[in-house]
Amino acid sequence: MKTVDHPSPNHAVRPAGAAIDVLVLHYTELPLQESLDVLSDPARPLKVSAHYVLAEDGTLYRLVPEERAAWHAGKSWWRGREALNASSIGIEIVNLHGDRHDYPQQQIAALIKLCHDILARHPAIAPRNVVGHSDIAPQRKIDPGLRFPWQALAAAGIGLWPKAGARPVEGDIQAALQRFGYPPPGEVPGPEIVKAFQRRFRPARVDGEADRETRTLLGGLLDQVGEGA
Ligand SMILES: [Zn+2]
Repeated sequence: MKTVDHPSPNHAVRPAGAAIDVLVLHYTELPLQESLDVLSDPARPLKVSAHYVLAEDGTLYRLVPEERAAWHAGKSWWRGREALNASSIGIEIVNLHGDRHDYPQQQIAALIKLCHDILARHPAIAPRNVVGHSDIAPQRKIDPGLRFPWQALAAAGIGLWPKAGARPVEGDIQAALQRFGYPPPGEVPGPEIVKAFQRRFRPARVDGEADRETRTLLGGLLDQVGEGA
C-alpha cells in the first residue's frame, strides 16, 4: 500500500485509561487535496482531523498517530458512550457523496488492508464497534453513505452484517437498536435512528419505518452479539 506521511497538528492526548475500541468510517465530501488541507488546518474555528485519509487510488495518508485522539466524530454516541474521539480511530475516505458515488475498487481494497492492520493492532475493537459516522451521529451525519460496501467489509472480517434467517425483533424497536449500540431517541427523534440503521443495513429503503424487514435485519445482528432478538 502506498503510504504518505501528512502530519496534522489537530490532535490531543487520549484520556487516561481510554481504550482504543471503536473504528469510525467517514467520507470526506471534498476532493483529496482539500480534505488534507481542512484536516490539518490549525486555524479553523472548529478544528478537525482524522488518523487517516484514503485517496480514491488507494494511497493512504497518515495524519495523526493512533495513540493520539483525532477530531473526526464530534457529538457522538455508541453503546452508551459519548464523545467517541477519545476512544476511536477515524478514517476519512475520499468520496464527494457516498449516496451518489461508488467507491472505487482499489480504494476499498486498500481500506480492507488498512482496517485489517488497525484491528490487528487494537483487538479491543469488537466487530460491532466498526461503525459509520451515521451510526454514531444519526440525523446529523450520513457518511459513509448508501453506496458504502458494508457487506463486502463484513465478508472480509471487518464489522458485522445481518445473518440471514433470523427472527425479527419484537416490541420496542428503539430498545433493540440500543442493544446493538445506537443512541436512544431524545434530541434526535426515534425514526431518525431507524433511518441510520437502514442507511447502513438496508440502503434500498431508508424511511424510518420499523417494518418487518428492518426488524429481521436487526434480529440477525443481535443474534451475533449475544443480545438475542
Ligand atoms: Zn464523518
